[in-house]
Amino acid sequence: MDIEKAYQQIKSSIPNDVTLVAVSKTKPTEQLLEAYNAGVRTFGENRVQEVVDKHEALPKDIEWHMIGHLQSKKTKYIAPFISLIHSVDSIKLLKVINKEAEKNNRVIDCLIQFHIAEEESKYGFLPNDAIELAEKINELNLKHVHIKGIMGMATFTNNTNQVQEEFRNLKQVFDLLKKNKWPHIDTLSMGMSGDYDIAIKEGSTMIRVGSKIFGSRK
Ligand SMILES: *Cc1c(COP(=O)(O)O)cnc(C)c1O
Repeated sequence: MDIEKAYQQIKSSIPNDVTLVAVSKTKPTEQLLEAYNAGVRTFGENRVQEVVDKHEALPKDIEWHMIGHLQSKKTKYIAPFISLIHSVDSIKLLKVINKEAEKNNRVIDCLIQFHIAEEESKYGFLPNDAIELAEKINELNLKHVHIKGIMGMATFTNNTNQVQEEFRNLKQVFDLLKKNKWPHIDTLSMGMSGDYDIAIKEGSTMIRVGSKIFGSRK
């Protein structure tokens, strides 16, 4: 299936208030342009050099999202243009984003990444630490980052019950934070090609879909 068809099909099958991020990592700019011509304006990438190059090469009304682990020292390269960073997984990184945003006279939107999957991963905060973490972040009073919500990835498994439980867990973290610490948050980024339908049922407001739009990656 071609990119335009795949995109239109997904777009028409999800609620209007769920944002679809087209995950274009590893894909050549010609394919991104194809998606752009089909109406895509929000692309997700997970490598700094790649998103910098694609930002330079493609139309300027595109919103670029960083969805993968971000090294603090590379933040400066994306700070001038990045629209949303989904993968804030340390306080240190958040402070660096704040500093680099200030240099660019910007306020950068950020999501705090939580680790909800069973798989081992170095990245993401634990749901149990959410409240304490939010208190710490609030105390820092950073003027050049805006916490817009949270992000998480479910376990890669065919067990839909497990995936559903993990998304439900992340939604609970979102609700807890919204109720107690961050009343302004409005973005719950969860769901990928294989599980976005479950994620939406569990309250996702933003899905990150790659292979179902662009085909599988090598
Ligand atoms: C690659 C990636 C996606 C998209 O994965 P697909 O299964 O191709 O849809 C979504 N989120 C993150 C964080 C990713 O790294």
